[in-house]
Amino acid sequence: REVAEAYNAAVAAGRALNAYTVETPDDALAVADAADRGEITGPLAGIPLGIKDLFATEGVDTTSGSRILKDFKPRYQSTVVANLRKAGAGMLGKLNMDEFAMGSSNETSAYGPVISPWRRKDGSNASLTPGGSSGGSAAAVSAGLAPGVTGTDTGGSIRQPAAFTGICGIKPTYGRCSRWGIVSFASSLDQAGPMAKTVRDCAIMLEAMSGFDPKDSTSLDEPVPQWEAGLSSNLKGKRVGIPKEYRIDGVPDEINALWDRGIEWLKDAGAEPVEISLPHTKHALPTYYIIAPAEASSNLARYDGVRYGLREVPDGGNLDAMYSATRAAGFGAEVKRRIMIGTYVLSAGFYDAYFTKAQRVRALIKQDFRKAFEQCDLILTPTAPSAAFGIGEKSDDPIAMYLNDVFAVPASLAGLPAMSVPGGLDGQGLPLGLHLIGNELDEQGVLNAALAIE
Ligand code: GLN
Repeated sequence: REVAEAYNAAVAAGRALNAYTVETPDDALAVADAADRGEITGPLAGIPLGIKDLFATEGVDTTSGSRILKDFKPRYQSTVVANLRKAGAGMLGKLNMDEFAMGSSNETSAYGPVISPWRRKDGSNASLTPGGSSGGSAAAVSAGLAPGVTGTDTGGSIRQPAAFTGICGIKPTYGRCSRWGIVSFASSLDQAGPMAKTVRDCAIMLEAMSGFDPKDSTSLDEPVPQWEAGLSSNLKGKRVGIPKEYRIDGVPDEINALWDRGIEWLKDAGAEPVEISLPHTKHALPTYYIIAPAEASSNLARYDGVRYGLREVPDGGNLDAMYSATRAAGFGAEVKRRIMIGTYVLSAGFYDAYFTKAQRVRALIKQDFRKAFEQCDLILTPTAPSAAFGIGEKSDDPIAMYLNDVFAVPASLAGLPAMSVPGGLDGQGLPLGLHLIGNELDEQGVLNAALAIE
């Protein structure tokens, strides 16, 4: 109860960050009390967690950061949240996020931006973004408003915000965590994962969140390993791949210096660095920004004013007018941009030139990784090409915003487990993340290398 009370108080005291869209202090207390009485057991018994607002929570607002789902209260629990509750966890509230998880700065949320608890040393005191789309999740952990949270990662949304706020976050192999009850963005890429201060906390949470679910057709029918018990920072015999194509122009020296330090830390832990090549890396970002909007445009067709949330009926309007008015009022600018891009690349005249081509390039990117993992056990890169930027700094420039994902999206397209772990601070005192990519199902290898860095 003391733990739940302390976090409830922290959540209330931290409202200026806008990390939570809904607070559920009573749930945190009720679960803690039940755990104290011994009625709830499990690895997370009584631990209150924050839940990204993309996860359906029974009876509790689930908005996906969108106006179109304002006040939507699902009558069911997403599988991941049900799994966490089975492990004993309570809920502190729902966490702010970019609208439908589209964004890298949490500025596309219909409920306002999340403010990072970090500040630059230069005295400017400018508000920084916590990254996105899991920006509320990252800010909450970083500021001590939750001991652990859920995030989702379609093209970096767990890893980039973790890097920006100095915490850990892992996206497991595609299919490890059930997508059932998670609002869909790009279904062939979406994965849930934990964010927390330490690698060990991530291992404990991921173990509870993962597992086969017949309700998700892409769920992996694989046993969940005991990742926490398997933690070891001894990397003797492990080969760490350093992809030469990730040394890209325009990345600040500080980021490359961080990468070099990371290589040394893994060497100190017994690993051997090897240079590898992932030749299609430069095509990953454009490929992602065709496939993700294409899938999103299809997934978001369900918000029609009939079944969920907002309904706008213009005077004397017919059904079509209701669809248009609802979607015009309900979706924000970035979501509309993605729907238009997605509809365009899927349209009859352009399907082969864009969507089919992107699927082919995706297969080549997967093949690059398959070949690379014949030469190495793990891959180390920086998580993002910069530290956190200021609120408003990139919000008018979608391309600059998309470039943030350059190191994160290749692993997403290949469905591989990947993690960001804090690597140190830049000259402005802001956190930088190191990024570990593992072979399929090798979350343990990723966690262990992260532990060696931590
Ligand atoms: N920033 C990327 C995008 O806007 C990734 C988002 C995510 O992983 N959900 O699509």
